[in-house]
Amino acid sequence: MSGWKLPWSAACLCGQVKMRVTAAPVVSMACHCTGCQKLTSGAYSLTLMLPTAGLEVEGETQIGALHRDESKHHYCPRCLSWLYTTSPGLAAMGFLNFRPTMLEDASWVVPFIESQTAEKLPGVVTGAKHSFERWPSPADYGRLMQEYAQAGARPR
Ligand SMILES: [Zn+2]
Ligand SMILES: [Zn+2]
Repeated sequence: MSGWKLPWSAACLCGQVKMRVTAAPVVSMACHCTGCQKLTSGAYSLTLMLPTAGLEVEGETQIGALHRDESKHHYCPRCLSWLYTTSPGLAAMGFLNFRPTMLEDASWVVPFIESQTAEKLPGVVTGAKHSFERWPSPADYGRLMQEYAQAGARPR
């Protein structure tokens, strides 16, 4: 679990919300689902799953997207950048999903897993090592996280 060069600085597009990542991610993911296509206005979402205590946020965030109980998508209230997502399920495991494109330097981020390839747009290639038509089964996560801790891409 070394070579992460923590902490990392991050901010929204306008700079009003500043963040600091102080713990190593447990996995990186790209999600191709049509929901993520709408959320990002792009081809897929990128996630670093972080221990909840490993993200410090300076400045108020605003909840956006679906406004459902399960997942809370946190945005900058000014520039509306999508910053991170919390959910009771993730919180129970002690994690949240951070958007690595908010990092000051995201140039090293490679998704380790890609999910929902059944909904993938044609021509999209992510470089992910493991592809899933839907989601990895819960039983797969331990093995995937272990492999990511060993072999996941690190900051240069
Ligand atoms: Zn902003
Ligand atoms: Zn998705």
